[in-house]
Amino acid sequence: MRSYEDTYQHKGLRRQLVNLLKEKGISDERVLDAINAIPRHFFLDSAFDKIAYEDRAFPIGEGQTISQPYTVAYQTQLLNVKKSDKVLEIGTGSVYQATILAELGAWVFTIERQKKLYELHKKYYFRNKYLNLKFFYGDGFEGLPTFGPFDKIIITAAAPFVPPKLVEQLKPGGIMVLPVDEGNSQRMLRITKTAEGSLIEEAFDQFSFVPMLTGRNG
Ligand code: SAH
Repeated sequence: MRSYEDTYQHKGLRRQLVNLLKEKGISDERVLDAINAIPRHFFLDSAFDKIAYEDRAFPIGEGQTISQPYTVAYQTQLLNVKKSDKVLEIGTGSVYQATILAELGAWVFTIERQKKLYELHKKYYFRNKYLNLKFFYGDGFEGLPTFGPFDKIIITAAAPFVPPKLVEQLKPGGIMVLPVDEGNSQRMLRITKTAEGSLIEEAFDQFSFVPMLTGRNG
């Protein structure tokens, strides 16, 4: 069950969450505005209504989770999304992260490997608002060669390595943000493809994601 009512209480909790994200170091005002604009509780079962604005991951079914707001804000900030950027997201899950990217004005292509989660897009609440968001069922390791190359690529599951086909689908000057496995946690990496096609890799903080798995499921 979902509830699509955005009350003053929800809005107040969302503002508190934005303040917390600022305290934790998120400084990009556009990212903070997007978090403030999108009702996160719309992406969760109504059982989570009272806690949807805690800075935590929550289950969304099929053993998957909606990412923690701090993680969503952190990855989005590193991605430096500009209006009309073509962005590929691996791991649609709840569609929350994809909606933040769409709110920032990007053309968003999001891939999910779990059939049941992919099918949730048919009931996507904002389907008439974010016409710049397209859903795909497939294996993120393959990317979307026919729709690429992309300005930005974001992986929202723990990648065992930097997927080579995704590097190929990144434009010169493009940026990919992904958590890469280091045992029990992952290191957030930002890979920038230079105009000449060489790669610059920067390492950031440790996070904990569900694994990026090969093939489709369902
Ligand atoms: N961005 C999501 C996070 C969901 S968790 C959100 O905002 O809610 C990560 C998601 O990645 C899961 O739904 C999982 O099924 C999916 N996933 C894992 N490996 C994948 C792959 N190879 N291709 C596409 N999706 C994948």
